[in-house]
Amino acid sequence: MSMKCDKCGGDMVVKSGRYGNFTACSNFPDCKNILKENKPASPPPERTGEKCDKCGEGEMVIRSGQYGKFKACSNFPKCRNTKKITENIKQE
Ligand SMILES: [Zn+2]
Ligand SMILES: [Zn+2]
Repeated sequence: MSMKCDKCGGDMVVKSGRYGNFTACSNFPDCKNILKENKPASPPPERTGEKCDKCGEGEMVIRSGQYGKFKACSNFPKCRNTKKITENIKQE
């Protein structure tokens, strides 16, 4: 796939920079057209396969916060159900 620069018509090329990959015009520095990539801010949360018992629609997903990992409803912020992660799967 190749993109054309919408400013000068040159080829857009992928470059890597300090903040990750970006697409810039190959005629740089004559043309300073840069396309920023829309990357998701954070990786998708870990799924548990557990249904939310408050709204019944969402799925509980693992999130990490100030005090470590916890389970939260995927419907957040509509549903604010959270649960502690209990480690009861220990084998003795
Ligand atoms: Zn250009
Ligand atoms: Zn919920």
